[in-house]
Amino acid sequence: MTTEEQNFPMDARELADRLQRALGDRFRVERVLGTGGFAVVFRVSDLDLKRDLAVKVLNPDIITSPKVRERFQREAEIIARLSHPHIIPLHFVGRDQELLYLAMPCVVGGSLADRLESAGPLPINDAMRIVGEVASALAFAHKRGVVHRDVKPQNVLLDAESGHCLVTDFGIARAENTTSLTSSGFIVGTPAYLSPEQFNGEHSDHRADLYALGVMAYEMVSGRLPFEGVTPSAILVRRMEGPPVPLRSLRPDVPPSLDRIVAKCLELRPADRFQSAADVVATLDAGSNGGTEILVPSGVSRARTSRVGTRLP
Ligand code: ADP
Ligand code: MG
Repeated sequence: MTTEEQNFPMDARELADRLQRALGDRFRVERVLGTGGFAVVFRVSDLDLKRDLAVKVLNPDIITSPKVRERFQREAEIIARLSHPHIIPLHFVGRDQELLYLAMPCVVGGSLADRLESAGPLPINDAMRIVGEVASALAFAHKRGVVHRDVKPQNVLLDAESGHCLVTDFGIARAENTTSLTSSGFIVGTPAYLSPEQFNGEHSDHRADLYALGVMAYEMVSGRLPFEGVTPSAILVRRMEGPPVPLRSLRPDVPPSLDRIVAKCLELRPADRFQSAADVVATLDAGSNGGTEILVPSGVSRARTSRVGTRLP
Protein backbone atom coordinates (compact mmCIF):
# COMPACT_ATOMS: atom_id res chain seq x y z
CA MET A 1 0.00 0.00 0.00
CA THR A 2 1.37 3.42 -0.89
CA THR A 3 1.55 6.21 1.66
CA GLU A 4 -1.14 8.04 -0.20
CA GLU A 5 -3.56 5.12 0.10
CA GLN A 6 -2.80 4.84 3.82
CA ASN A 7 -3.60 8.53 4.28
CA PHE A 8 -6.87 8.19 2.46
CA PRO A 9 -8.84 4.99 2.71
CA MET A 10 -10.71 4.26 -0.53
CA ASP A 11 -13.97 5.84 0.55
CA ALA A 12 -12.26 9.04 1.73
CA ARG A 13 -10.03 9.55 -1.30
CA GLU A 14 -12.70 11.15 -3.44
CA LEU A 15 -13.91 13.29 -0.58
CA ALA A 16 -10.33 14.46 0.01
CA ASP A 17 -10.05 15.48 -3.66
CA ARG A 18 -13.29 17.39 -3.50
CA LEU A 19 -12.21 19.15 -0.34
CA GLN A 20 -8.88 20.03 -1.93
CA ARG A 21 -10.70 21.60 -4.89
CA ALA A 22 -12.98 23.55 -2.56
CA LEU A 23 -10.15 24.83 -0.37
CA GLY A 24 -7.82 25.88 -3.17
CA ASP A 25 -4.06 26.36 -3.29
CA ARG A 26 -3.57 27.84 0.12
CA PHE A 27 -4.40 24.52 1.79
CA ARG A 28 -3.18 20.97 1.37
CA VAL A 29 -5.39 18.07 2.45
CA GLU A 30 -3.02 15.68 4.20
CA ARG A 31 -4.77 12.72 5.71
CA VAL A 32 -7.77 11.35 7.57
CA LEU A 33 -7.78 12.12 11.30
CA GLY A 34 -10.97 10.34 12.21
CA THR A 35 -14.47 9.46 11.16
CA GLY A 36 -17.72 9.79 13.02
CA GLY A 37 -21.32 9.01 12.32
CA PHE A 38 -21.83 11.90 9.91
CA ALA A 39 -18.43 13.07 8.81
CA VAL A 40 -14.83 12.48 7.89
CA VAL A 41 -12.25 14.71 9.58
CA PHE A 42 -9.11 15.55 7.58
CA ARG A 43 -5.83 17.07 8.62
CA VAL A 44 -5.25 20.03 6.35
CA SER A 45 -2.11 22.10 6.18
CA ASP A 46 -2.57 25.87 5.90
CA LEU A 47 0.45 26.69 3.72
CA ASP A 48 0.07 30.42 4.28
CA LEU A 49 -0.02 30.49 8.06
CA LYS A 50 2.00 27.27 8.30
CA ARG A 51 -0.28 25.50 10.70
CA ASP A 52 -2.42 22.39 10.65
CA LEU A 53 -6.19 22.45 10.72
CA ALA A 54 -8.75 19.73 11.22
CA VAL A 55 -11.47 20.03 8.59
CA LYS A 56 -14.66 18.12 9.25
CA VAL A 57 -16.49 17.31 6.03
CA LEU A 58 -20.05 16.10 6.20
CA ASN A 59 -20.76 12.90 4.35
CA PRO A 60 -21.94 14.12 0.89
CA ASP A 61 -24.50 11.32 0.67
CA ILE A 62 -26.45 12.84 3.51
CA ILE A 63 -26.12 16.57 2.84
CA THR A 64 -28.86 16.48 0.26
CA SER A 65 -31.28 16.46 3.15
CA PRO A 66 -32.32 19.92 4.37
CA LYS A 67 -32.23 18.57 7.94
CA VAL A 68 -28.56 17.77 7.63
CA ARG A 69 -27.83 21.21 6.19
CA GLU A 70 -29.73 22.67 9.10
CA ARG A 71 -27.76 20.57 11.57
CA PHE A 72 -24.52 21.71 9.97
CA GLN A 73 -25.48 25.36 10.10
CA ARG A 74 -26.56 24.98 13.70
CA GLU A 75 -23.36 23.20 14.70
CA ALA A 76 -21.31 26.00 13.13
CA GLU A 77 -23.29 28.72 14.89
CA ILE A 78 -23.15 26.89 18.19
CA ILE A 79 -19.39 26.37 18.14
CA ALA A 80 -18.79 29.90 16.89
CA ARG A 81 -20.35 31.40 19.99
CA LEU A 82 -18.72 29.04 22.50
CA SER A 83 -15.29 30.42 23.25
CA HIS A 84 -13.87 28.38 26.12
CA PRO A 85 -10.46 26.79 26.86
CA HIS A 86 -11.98 23.29 26.75
CA ILE A 87 -14.26 23.65 23.73
CA ILE A 88 -12.79 23.29 20.26
CA PRO A 89 -12.97 26.66 18.47
CA LEU A 90 -14.14 27.16 14.90
CA HIS A 91 -11.85 28.85 12.35
CA PHE A 92 -14.24 28.95 9.38
CA VAL A 93 -16.92 27.03 7.55
CA GLY A 94 -17.41 26.24 3.88
CA ARG A 95 -20.59 25.36 2.09
CA ASP A 96 -21.48 24.79 -1.49
CA GLN A 97 -23.86 22.49 -3.29
CA GLU A 98 -21.61 19.50 -2.83
CA LEU A 99 -19.66 20.01 0.33
CA LEU A 100 -20.19 21.26 3.86
CA TYR A 101 -17.15 21.59 6.08
CA LEU A 102 -15.95 23.10 9.36
CA ALA A 103 -12.31 24.08 9.97
CA MET A 104 -10.96 23.80 13.49
CA PRO A 105 -7.54 23.63 15.13
CA CYS A 106 -5.94 20.24 14.69
CA VAL A 107 -5.62 18.57 18.07
CA VAL A 108 -2.63 16.28 18.15
CA GLY A 109 -3.16 13.53 20.68
CA GLY A 110 -6.27 11.69 19.52
CA SER A 111 -9.53 11.32 21.32
CA LEU A 112 -10.13 10.11 24.85
CA ALA A 113 -11.65 6.99 23.27
CA ASP A 114 -8.35 6.31 21.44
CA ARG A 115 -6.47 6.76 24.68
CA LEU A 116 -8.75 4.41 26.64
CA GLU A 117 -8.43 1.83 23.92
CA SER A 118 -4.64 1.98 23.73
CA ALA A 119 -3.72 2.55 27.38
CA GLY A 120 -6.71 1.33 29.39
CA PRO A 121 -8.03 3.09 32.50
CA LEU A 122 -6.44 6.44 33.31
CA PRO A 123 -4.44 7.43 36.38
CA ILE A 124 -6.89 8.89 38.90
CA ASN A 125 -5.45 12.39 38.71
CA ASP A 126 -5.76 12.48 34.92
CA ALA A 127 -9.31 11.18 35.07
CA MET A 128 -10.30 13.79 37.66
CA ARG A 129 -8.72 16.56 35.64
CA ILE A 130 -10.52 15.51 32.47
CA VAL A 131 -13.85 15.24 34.29
CA GLY A 132 -13.26 18.76 35.66
CA GLU A 133 -12.33 20.19 32.26
CA VAL A 134 -15.29 18.60 30.47
CA ALA A 135 -17.60 19.72 33.29
CA SER A 136 -16.31 23.29 33.01
CA ALA A 137 -16.87 23.22 29.23
CA LEU A 138 -20.40 21.92 29.77
CA ALA A 139 -21.10 24.52 32.48
CA PHE A 140 -20.08 27.21 29.99
CA ALA A 141 -22.25 25.79 27.19
CA HIS A 142 -25.24 25.15 29.48
CA LYS A 143 -25.14 28.71 30.76
CA ARG A 144 -25.62 29.77 27.15
CA GLY A 145 -28.53 27.44 26.62
CA VAL A 146 -26.56 24.80 24.70
CA VAL A 147 -26.84 21.14 25.70
CA HIS A 148 -24.26 18.89 24.02
CA ARG A 149 -26.32 15.65 24.00
CA ASP A 150 -23.51 13.43 22.78
CA VAL A 151 -20.88 13.62 25.50
CA LYS A 152 -18.66 10.54 25.11
CA PRO A 153 -14.94 9.72 24.89
CA GLN A 154 -14.92 9.97 21.05
CA ASN A 155 -15.98 13.59 21.38
CA VAL A 156 -13.26 14.58 23.86
CA LEU A 157 -9.94 15.35 22.19
CA LEU A 158 -6.67 15.27 24.12
CA ASP A 159 -4.00 17.82 23.33
CA ALA A 160 -0.73 15.89 23.61
CA GLU A 161 1.31 19.03 24.22
CA SER A 162 -0.66 20.59 27.06
CA GLY A 163 -2.32 17.42 28.32
CA HIS A 164 -5.63 19.30 28.35
CA CYS A 165 -8.82 18.22 26.68
CA LEU A 166 -11.18 19.87 24.21
CA VAL A 167 -14.82 18.95 23.79
CA THR A 168 -15.86 18.60 20.18
CA ASP A 169 -18.82 17.57 18.04
CA PHE A 170 -21.55 19.87 19.16
CA GLY A 171 -23.35 18.44 16.12
CA ILE A 172 -26.38 17.26 17.95
CA ALA A 173 -26.22 19.97 20.52
CA ARG A 174 -29.04 22.40 20.32
CA ALA A 175 -29.90 25.57 22.08
CA GLU A 176 -32.50 24.68 24.66
CA ASN A 177 -34.97 27.10 23.20
CA THR A 178 -34.83 25.77 19.64
CA THR A 179 -37.08 23.08 18.31
CA SER A 180 -35.62 19.63 18.38
CA LEU A 181 -34.74 18.10 15.04
CA THR A 182 -35.74 14.79 16.46
CA SER A 183 -39.45 15.34 16.75
CA SER A 184 -39.79 12.40 14.34
CA GLY A 185 -38.90 10.22 17.31
CA PHE A 186 -35.36 9.51 16.14
CA ILE A 187 -33.09 9.28 19.16
CA VAL A 188 -29.76 11.04 18.83
CA GLY A 189 -26.76 10.03 20.87
CA THR A 190 -24.90 6.84 21.67
CA PRO A 191 -26.88 4.27 23.70
CA ALA A 192 -24.29 3.62 26.43
CA TYR A 193 -24.05 7.35 27.23
CA LEU A 194 -27.70 8.25 26.76
CA SER A 195 -29.53 9.40 29.83
CA PRO A 196 -32.63 7.38 30.78
CA GLU A 197 -34.85 10.35 29.93
CA GLN A 198 -33.34 10.69 26.41
CA PHE A 199 -33.67 6.97 25.96
CA ASN A 200 -37.33 7.07 26.89
CA GLY A 201 -37.95 9.99 24.56
CA GLU A 202 -38.95 12.18 27.51
CA HIS A 203 -38.06 15.82 27.96
CA SER A 204 -34.35 16.13 28.63
CA ASP A 205 -32.17 19.06 29.53
CA HIS A 206 -28.59 19.87 30.53
CA ARG A 207 -28.73 17.18 33.21
CA ALA A 208 -28.62 14.58 30.41
CA ASP A 209 -25.06 15.77 29.72
CA LEU A 210 -24.20 15.23 33.39
CA TYR A 211 -25.44 11.65 33.11
CA ALA A 212 -23.17 11.10 30.08
CA LEU A 213 -20.29 12.71 31.98
CA GLY A 214 -20.87 10.18 34.78
CA VAL A 215 -20.77 7.28 32.30
CA MET A 216 -17.57 8.65 30.79
CA ALA A 217 -15.94 9.19 34.20
CA TYR A 218 -16.84 5.64 35.25
CA GLU A 219 -15.30 4.30 32.05
CA MET A 220 -12.13 6.40 32.37
CA VAL A 221 -11.47 5.08 35.85
CA SER A 222 -12.58 1.46 35.59
CA GLY A 223 -12.08 0.70 31.89
CA ARG A 224 -15.68 -0.50 31.60
CA LEU A 225 -19.10 0.98 31.16
CA PRO A 226 -21.41 1.22 34.18
CA PHE A 227 -24.22 -0.51 32.29
CA GLU A 228 -23.30 -2.96 29.61
CA GLY A 229 -25.49 -4.70 27.08
CA VAL A 230 -25.36 -5.81 23.47
CA THR A 231 -28.43 -3.87 22.43
CA PRO A 232 -29.71 -0.46 23.53
CA SER A 233 -32.64 -2.11 25.29
CA ALA A 234 -30.34 -4.52 27.13
CA ILE A 235 -28.43 -1.50 28.43
CA LEU A 236 -31.68 0.06 29.52
CA VAL A 237 -32.81 -3.07 31.33
CA ARG A 238 -29.47 -3.33 33.13
CA ARG A 239 -29.80 0.31 34.17
CA MET A 240 -33.26 -0.22 35.59
CA GLU A 241 -32.08 -3.19 37.64
CA GLY A 242 -30.19 -0.91 40.01
CA PRO A 243 -27.04 1.15 40.41
CA PRO A 244 -23.80 0.06 38.74
CA VAL A 245 -21.06 -1.83 40.54
CA PRO A 246 -19.49 0.84 42.80
CA LEU A 247 -16.37 2.29 41.25
CA ARG A 248 -14.37 1.73 44.41
CA SER A 249 -14.95 -1.98 44.30
CA LEU A 250 -13.47 -2.05 40.78
CA ARG A 251 -10.66 0.34 41.58
CA PRO A 252 -9.86 0.78 45.28
CA ASP A 253 -7.66 3.85 44.75
CA VAL A 254 -10.65 5.92 43.62
CA PRO A 255 -11.13 8.72 46.15
CA PRO A 256 -14.52 8.55 47.89
CA SER A 257 -15.31 12.03 46.54
CA LEU A 258 -14.95 10.90 42.92
CA ASP A 259 -16.90 7.72 43.61
CA ARG A 260 -19.80 9.80 44.92
CA ILE A 261 -19.60 12.37 42.13
CA VAL A 262 -19.90 9.60 39.54
CA ALA A 263 -22.73 7.89 41.40
CA LYS A 264 -24.61 11.17 41.63
CA CYS A 265 -24.18 11.90 37.92
CA LEU A 266 -25.55 8.42 37.18
CA GLU A 267 -28.78 8.83 39.14
CA LEU A 268 -31.76 7.70 37.04
CA ARG A 269 -33.86 10.74 37.86
CA PRO A 270 -32.46 14.10 36.70
CA ALA A 271 -33.71 15.63 39.96
CA ASP A 272 -31.37 13.33 41.93
CA ARG A 273 -28.29 14.31 39.92
CA PHE A 274 -26.18 17.41 40.24
CA GLN A 275 -28.35 20.24 39.06
CA SER A 276 -25.55 21.95 37.18
CA ALA A 277 -22.18 21.15 35.66
CA ALA A 278 -20.80 24.02 37.75
CA ASP A 279 -21.76 22.01 40.87
CA VAL A 280 -19.73 19.08 39.56
CA VAL A 281 -16.71 21.36 39.12
CA ALA A 282 -17.12 22.84 42.62
CA THR A 283 -17.52 19.41 44.24
CA LEU A 284 -14.52 18.05 42.39
CA ASP A 285 -12.42 21.04 43.46
CA ALA A 286 -13.50 20.66 47.06
CA GLY A 287 -12.63 16.95 46.97
CA SER A 288 -9.22 17.47 45.40
CA ASN A 289 -8.22 20.23 47.83
CA GLY A 290 -7.35 17.49 50.28
CA GLY A 291 -10.72 17.47 51.96
CA THR A 292 -11.96 14.55 53.93
CA GLU A 293 -15.60 14.20 54.64
CA ILE A 294 -16.92 15.15 58.03
CA LEU A 295 -20.14 13.45 58.87
CA VAL A 296 -22.61 15.98 60.10
CA PRO A 297 -25.62 14.88 62.15
CA SER A 298 -28.84 15.49 60.28
CA GLY A 299 -30.44 18.82 61.01
CA VAL A 300 -27.08 20.51 61.56
CA SER A 301 -25.98 22.78 58.77
CA ARG A 302 -22.91 21.56 56.99
CA ALA A 303 -19.82 23.71 57.07
CA ARG A 304 -18.08 23.63 53.74
CA THR A 305 -14.54 24.67 53.35
CA SER A 306 -12.10 23.35 50.88
CA ARG A 307 -9.79 22.43 53.76
CA VAL A 308 -12.15 20.20 55.68
CA GLY A 309 -13.93 18.90 52.63
CA THR A 310 -17.44 18.71 51.43
CA ARG A 311 -20.34 16.38 51.42
CA LEU A 312 -22.14 16.07 48.18
CA PRO A 313 -25.10 18.36 47.88
P1 ADP B 1 -18.95 13.14 14.06
O1 ADP B 1 -19.87 14.33 14.15
O2 ADP B 1 -19.11 12.46 12.73
O3 ADP B 1 -19.01 12.22 15.22
P2 ADP B 1 -16.48 14.30 15.19
O4 ADP B 1 -16.45 15.79 15.17
O5 ADP B 1 -16.81 13.67 16.50
O6 ADP B 1 -17.44 13.76 14.02
O7 ADP B 1 -15.07 13.75 14.68
C1 ADP B 1 -14.82 12.38 14.47
C2 ADP B 1 -13.39 12.00 14.91
O8 ADP B 1 -12.42 12.78 14.17
C3 ADP B 1 -13.09 12.27 16.37
O9 ADP B 1 -13.46 11.20 17.21
C4 ADP B 1 -11.57 12.46 16.34
O10 ADP B 1 -10.91 11.20 16.32
C5 ADP B 1 -11.31 13.14 15.00
N1 ADP B 1 -11.28 14.61 15.15
C6 ADP B 1 -12.36 15.44 15.14
N2 ADP B 1 -12.01 16.72 15.31
C7 ADP B 1 -10.65 16.73 15.43
C8 ADP B 1 -9.66 17.78 15.63
N3 ADP B 1 -10.00 19.05 15.74
N4 ADP B 1 -8.36 17.41 15.72
C9 ADP B 1 -8.00 16.10 15.62
N5 ADP B 1 -8.87 15.07 15.43
C10 ADP B 1 -10.19 15.37 15.34
MG1 MG C 1 -18.35 12.49 17.17
